[in-house]
Amino acid sequence: MMVRTDVQPELIPLKVQAASDPLNAPHAAMAAVVIQALGVNPAAGLASDEAEARLKRFGANAIQRIRPRAAWRLLLDQFASVIIALLAVAALVAFLTSDVGAGLAIVVVLILNALIGFAMEWQAGRALDALRRTAPARARARRDGRELMLEAQSLVPGDIIILNPGDRVPADARLIEAANLRVEESTLTGESASVEKTVAPVAADALLAERHSMLYLGTTVSAGRGVAVVTATGAQTELGRIGKLVADAPDESTPLERRLAALGQRLVWLMLAIAAVVTVAGSLRGDGWWMMVEVSISLAVAAVPEGLPAVTTLILAIGVLRMARQRAIVRRLPAVETLGSVTIICTDKTGTLTENRMTVIEYRLADGRVIRTDAPLAGSDELLFRAVRAGVLCNEASYEVQSDGAARTIGDPTETALLEAAEKLGVNPGALRGVYTKLAEIPFDAETKRMITAHRAPDGTQLVSLKGAPSAVLNLCSHFADDEDELHPFDEAAQQQLLALNEVMADGALRVLALAEKRVSASEQLSAVIGNDFTFLGFVGMIDPPRDEVPEAVAQAHQAGIRVVMLTGDQINTARAIARELRLNDRTDPLVLHARDLTGAGHEQVAMLARRADAFARVSPEDKMRIVAALQQTGEIVALTGDGVNDAPALRRADTGIAMGRRGTEVAREAADVVLTDDNFATILRAVEGGRIIYANITRFVHLMFSKNLAEVLVIFLAIVISWPLPLLPLQILWLNLVTDIFPGMALAVEPGAPDVMRRPPRPPQAALLSRRFLALIAWQGVMLAVIVLAAYGWALNEYGAGAHARTVALFALIGVQIGHTFNCRSRIRSAFDGLFRNPYVWGAVAIVVALQLLAVWLKPLARVLNVVELTTRDWALWGLTIIIPVIIVEAAKLLVRQQRRMESQLQKRE
Ligand code: ADP
Ligand code: MG
Repeated sequence: MMVRTDVQPELIPLKVQAASDPLNAPHAAMAAVVIQALGVNPAAGLASDEAEARLKRFGANAIQRIRPRAAWRLLLDQFASVIIALLAVAALVAFLTSDVGAGLAIVVVLILNALIGFAMEWQAGRALDALRRTAPARARARRDGRELMLEAQSLVPGDIIILNPGDRVPADARLIEAANLRVEESTLTGESASVEKTVAPVAADALLAERHSMLYLGTTVSAGRGVAVVTATGAQTELGRIGKLVADAPDESTPLERRLAALGQRLVWLMLAIAAVVTVAGSLRGDGWWMMVEVSISLAVAAVPEGLPAVTTLILAIGVLRMARQRAIVRRLPAVETLGSVTIICTDKTGTLTENRMTVIEYRLADGRVIRTDAPLAGSDELLFRAVRAGVLCNEASYEVQSDGAARTIGDPTETALLEAAEKLGVNPGALRGVYTKLAEIPFDAETKRMITAHRAPDGTQLVSLKGAPSAVLNLCSHFADDEDELHPFDEAAQQQLLALNEVMADGALRVLALAEKRVSASEQLSAVIGNDFTFLGFVGMIDPPRDEVPEAVAQAHQAGIRVVMLTGDQINTARAIARELRLNDRTDPLVLHARDLTGAGHEQVAMLARRADAFARVSPEDKMRIVAALQQTGEIVALTGDGVNDAPALRRADTGIAMGRRGTEVAREAADVVLTDDNFATILRAVEGGRIIYANITRFVHLMFSKNLAEVLVIFLAIVISWPLPLLPLQILWLNLVTDIFPGMALAVEPGAPDVMRRPPRPPQAALLSRRFLALIAWQGVMLAVIVLAAYGWALNEYGAGAHARTVALFALIGVQIGHTFNCRSRIRSAFDGLFRNPYVWGAVAIVVALQLLAVWLKPLARVLNVVELTTRDWALWGLTIIIPVIIVEAAKLLVRQQRRMESQLQKRE
């Protein structure tokens, strides 16, 4: 071979140095060396003042996402719209025709328009930011000798972190302990299969994907447990260096927003076409050419609902913030729309329908005895002790010492219950764990429904403890013990007998776990000894009371036309007992199916079963996926709750994935659309209600905007058609636009929601917002408003002749009908007088509009610019009429609609 002359000599020492420096290549150094280099005691973690100092030095553990648009950019963007261009042209026309006053006024309007657009978008942006801040990522860490949940942002190099299945790795870290740890690293390596992680160092030049001793920010734990020391945070991490997160900032706009934006675009062109017609028609008739250009431009400006996208975003954001206060955090705005049309909620049981406050009631031992846990054990009972011991050793829960010195259990409630039961029976879990040190473990997994641990026993052998769902455990047993410690072989009959015993417990709504153990020689590896030769010790039964608010919430869901199906990993008898208690089926006894019924079933069969069943027992995450997919194919809009790592695919698949904020894993939360901060089923209904209200408010806003804009166009257009003098001057149209666009529309956007939102069936998801029916409604109401205004104008023409006075009456009439119509738009069906004062904002908006109108008359300079004259008493009375008449007409129409509905529903009932 040639001598490698191209290698620069100074590179070689650098490489050697890298390998020897534990902080430069922590993957290649021994864990103990890395820990020492980072100056931390792994058992206690960093002291909090040291952590604070490091946070100052290294900065927050965060990667810059896309920067929000700066304020000045946002402001500048406002000027890049068709509307502004039109206004600029109108101003130019005014200046050219040496109407300097009007020209200046239009410039003012132009600036005001941009400012309003800016304010709305700014507000919407801020609301969205507030939303993002409501769900910070968290990490489990050790500090000051205690375990605690930290915000991932505050991690620093040297922090000791603890990872469980479903956790997102919060920083780059060197492993110091690992038990069957598997990590999914596709964000970094593109490889979707999970990799096994171990503590042993790897070669210094190992590729990222081969550094099995390291954990990297942004990857997720798919199984096992690990403890690691943070080596890099924020921008120093591998992910931070490639800056990948920046690329996947989600698109926050919803389908509805996009549809409305597209519609707005089309309306611009439509309005320009109408403007052209108006200009030509007006000039042909002899109105000044320039004047007509100005009129039609003003008209186009007034009629295009330019605020539509911004207001829609604002309505969504406001509604979503309101939902966050009700403990439902929406992580993706598009989810809000689907939320309102959910037809079926698939919910898990533990913690959502029940309290997840487990209390052990009894042990049923292998020899048939039943031991209640309400009194300490008298004398020694070897079999009971072994069962209790299995429950304590095969257990991840632990104790946390409070500031007052008292110890409190932390961990999975199923497991803390076992520690508490041991104490009640006089067994000290801490002492027991001290004697039997843990050697290895296979953590609980929703798929296998069991957990196994191995311990060094005082006699030098290895004790393997097993706990899990009864059938999962019994399958691994070959013997059962009696209190003499005699082993009885496990035949089919014995197994059946035990399963029957388990069912008796489950019928009483108990959550049942089975306990077993075996002894092997100390040198055996845990993975090699799982086998099926465990000794069955007994069952333990715990209660988990249903949450008080759930039966009520289930009834509410039924009223709202939403079915509730429970998907639980628990067994069928427990599921049935709970389904009964919660009245999941309000007509007959609940139909509870076993996940087994789904095996081998085709897609259609699954859908058919899922449509009829009230609960499924023993479902695995994979079953959830099948059930969701099948339901979706039959046209259901599915909301699904989940909390585990394996639930992520189903959560993504569901129309609305709902994760648990407390119990759920980080992975589930990230896959979900909605996170419940209280894990409570009733909150799901609040979220659905929120979704429905938001949708209704967008509809209200669109209703008002479109019908009033239509009225404005028609007033000018029809006046020209019937050869009346122009009812409004350009500046008056622009004034109108400013006054009536913002306040009434925004007031409707915050309607609190009709009292019957949750008593109606879900909105059909495929139904367009602008259905033919809705468009027809907008059309006739727009025409109606225009006719009223023209009638008022006609009367004024007759009374005062063509000129400023008649135009003032027309302007007032147009604003008057819009005030009245604001009340109409609060509901398409219910009377405006029904809950007339429920939305104070509507009244506030009306007050502002009226005040501005009075100002327009009484403030002389403004009156001069607007060409508005003093009104007579009769004019004021007429104004009052223009406010009231649209309300009366629409009330009559609503009455008819309500009557027709009633008749229809009666007919339906009779059939
Ligand atoms: P659920 O729908 O009630 O949340 P899970 O999927 O959590 O059901 O649990 C399914 C079954 O697995 C339980 O009925 C129980 O028998 C068993 N199990 C639950 N938690 C544990 C645990 N920590 N260790 C061993 N077995 C468990
Ligand atoms: Mg569970």
